[in-house]
Amino acid sequence: MKIEDFLRDIPNFPKEGILFKDITPLLLNHEATKFCLNTLASTLKDRKIDKVVGVESRGFFFGTLLAQELNAGFVPVRKPKKLPYKTISASYALEYGTDSLEIHIDAIQPGDKVLIHDDVLATGGTAEAVCKLIEQLGGEIVQVNFLMELSFLNGRNKLTGKEIFAAITY
Ligand code: AMP
Repeated sequence: MKIEDFLRDIPNFPKEGILFKDITPLLLNHEATKFCLNTLASTLKDRKIDKVVGVESRGFFFGTLLAQELNAGFVPVRKPKKLPYKTISASYALEYGTDSLEIHIDAIQPGDKVLIHDDVLATGGTAEAVCKLIEQLGGEIVQVNFLMELSFLNGRNKLTGKEIFAAITY
């Protein structure tokens, strides 16, 4: 089975010039989803992950599945003002301006072994901000894990020193 066969390119979404990688055809197919989950979990079985952190919103799908697969808790990282309890936040640069992400302060305990998951690694700004949140709470990042990496955008350069896994590289 090839995960690529279940991904769809949508040109100029959400704005002109972006080739959007749509994972909804993959989610529609339970066998492809299971295959992708096994691929994402393949390097993590013996790594004693305590928490899987999923990034809003497409990181939530495989993030929760990975947490179940690895017998770990799931932690959502969300856009500002979405989480109801006390939070910390980290900002990151967009093409124009900045945005930020938040996490509940009690979601990670010092020393927790953490897996970060998102659907796409593009410029790396999002994942870098999530790493800052986890490290601020004292978590140990075991791996930053993606369905796909758009390698031509060099997102890895923002994650130096981190173990990175991508099921597919473009
Ligand atoms: P970046 O911070 O540039 O690495 O962007 C990563 C975030 O933006 C992830 O949460 C992705 O869901 C989203 N993203 C960036 N580029 C794309 C793309 N071409 N298709 C789908 N999602 C994308």
